[in-house]
Amino acid sequence: TFMEVVKAVARKGSLSRQTVAVRADQKSYSYQHLISSAWNISHLLCNHDWKNVNGVRENGYLGGARIGIVAKPSAEFVAGVLGTWFSGGVAVPLAVSYPEAELLYVMNDSDVSMILSTDEHRELMQNVAAKSSAQFSLIPPVPVLPPQTTGNGPSQVNAGENLQGIDNSNKIEGEEPALILYTSGTTGKPKGVVHTHNSILAQGGRRTSLAVRTGKSVSGLLLSEVQMLANAWEYTSGDQFLHCLPLHHIHNHLFLYYIFCQYLHLLVEFMPKFSVRGIWQRWRESYPKDGKMVEDAVTVFTGVPTMYTRLIQGYEAMDPELQAASASAASQLRLMMCGSSALPLPVMEQWETITGHRLLERYGMTEFVMAISNPLQGLRKGGTVGKPFPGVQAMILAEGKDGEDTSGVGELCIKSPSLFKEYWKLPEVTKDSFIDGGFFKTGDAVRVDEDGYYVILGRNNADIMKVGGYKLSALEIEATLLEHPAISECCVLGLPDKDFGEAVCAIIVPEAKIKRMREEEVKPAISLKELCTWAKEKLAPYKLPTRLFLWDSLPRNAMGKVNKKELKKTLAADES
Ligand code: ATP
Ligand code: MG
Repeated sequence: TFMEVVKAVARKGSLSRQTVAVRADQKSYSYQHLISSAWNISHLLCNHDWKNVNGVRENGYLGGARIGIVAKPSAEFVAGVLGTWFSGGVAVPLAVSYPEAELLYVMNDSDVSMILSTDEHRELMQNVAAKSSAQFSLIPPVPVLPPQTTGNGPSQVNAGENLQGIDNSNKIEGEEPALILYTSGTTGKPKGVVHTHNSILAQGGRRTSLAVRTGKSVSGLLLSEVQMLANAWEYTSGDQFLHCLPLHHIHNHLFLYYIFCQYLHLLVEFMPKFSVRGIWQRWRESYPKDGKMVEDAVTVFTGVPTMYTRLIQGYEAMDPELQAASASAASQLRLMMCGSSALPLPVMEQWETITGHRLLERYGMTEFVMAISNPLQGLRKGGTVGKPFPGVQAMILAEGKDGEDTSGVGELCIKSPSLFKEYWKLPEVTKDSFIDGGFFKTGDAVRVDEDGYYVILGRNNADIMKVGGYKLSALEIEATLLEHPAISECCVLGLPDKDFGEAVCAIIVPEAKIKRMREEEVKPAISLKELCTWAKEKLAPYKLPTRLFLWDSLPRNAMGKVNKKELKKTLAADES
């Protein structure tokens, strides 16, 4: 199981224990310290006086009790999750950015027995815990390595021998739940997605031949389970991954366990809060002007599309000298990726012009982590998410009635070893999400293009509009509208229409310059008529918007996604 991998790393492993595993706030943390801290947390949990809290056995193995983890992306977060696993608990990462009501929703829904929080969030979380049945405990700080420690070099740390500890993890079976991650809540209340130790390990991939490829020995038993993603994106020990996304979400969450079953020694650097300036600066530090790469240089970066939009805006606001240094630094990273929602082509193109990087777009979901990706080597096709990873089966469920031509458009279904076990406490939803043969229905409409690349057309229930006799993809129309020079962001959705069933409605956020003009009460920079005149060269007449809203921003959730179902309701209510 996954636990065996982690234990192998902890015991002897092919990792040097002083290897830097995590960096955060310019501090370094070793594998040794992280794992020792995790064992300490595990002791704390197992020896806690639970007073018969449901599902928690006295003095020992937690028997699947849910433990809420509250910490910004940090070494403490990693230690909290691992500590929970060592003691037989199920980790439930919680977002501190959530308003209290949402925090309570997730805590009550998953029936969290204890909140493990860092000191930073003590007050907030003690208050919240008091309103639920959860108990509260602190995650102690993970010891920091001396500042001069970098990369894989040896350090002066006196490695405490605290690894024997309790060994309840022996009792953990691979099919037991390890993690409940909540979906982004883009289409309704977030759903708790239950991943088992096995599904987590599977995302790491099957036993493959990387050891052969790299010429390394396969000493560490399960450590030879080398990751599907490591293979696909060719991670090596030289890589340093800059991580700027919240950890309660699936995007990059895999790096938590990833780093531990990673005999590749990939280093993860957390930037706890996304900062445009901070990211550009970190890249410039990594690749100073003299052309030399510093020892702890960032080599891999991934983000959601809005992050790239913001980074482009930040770049445009720089003076030319800083722009040159920034672009040159960014161009030297090994890999830049994007996912979680559709990457607009203009953003992809602008990014390529600035940094020379053709963003590698991929497709994933809380329910299976990652399934389809553009290739590292070979053609990265804009507007597509590439092809299924080896070991992942994809199938398209055509919706049409017998004989109806759906031109290959249908609902994407995925079968993969990394599939989740179930939706927490939603047996009916779970049942309805699977079809014969163990395929999971993603709810996303797709088609496959002439090269076998998958094109995500959007969510069946929010992005696919039924206008007259046509089924239209909101994502496709958004992508076109974004090419307009005066449009900074946009969201297309169908609103009820008595003649056509639905009407194509576009909400656009004008470019900053144009926004200023509006404030000065110059006439609106874009009218529906002007937009349609411009767009009619690019879109079929029935795809042109018939309603237009100009907004200052789009309501986005923590992952930068717009809840269209909610927006539709609000707009429809406003109209009636
Ligand atoms: P909820 O399930 O609560 O409504 P959610 O589906 O947004 O929220 P996630 O699991 O975070 O929750 O997101 C998965 C979804 O994100 C996919 O089903 C898909 O619609 C979208 N998605 C992910 N990657 C891409 C991509 N590269 N292009 C387009 N859409 C993507
Ligand atoms: Mg979803």
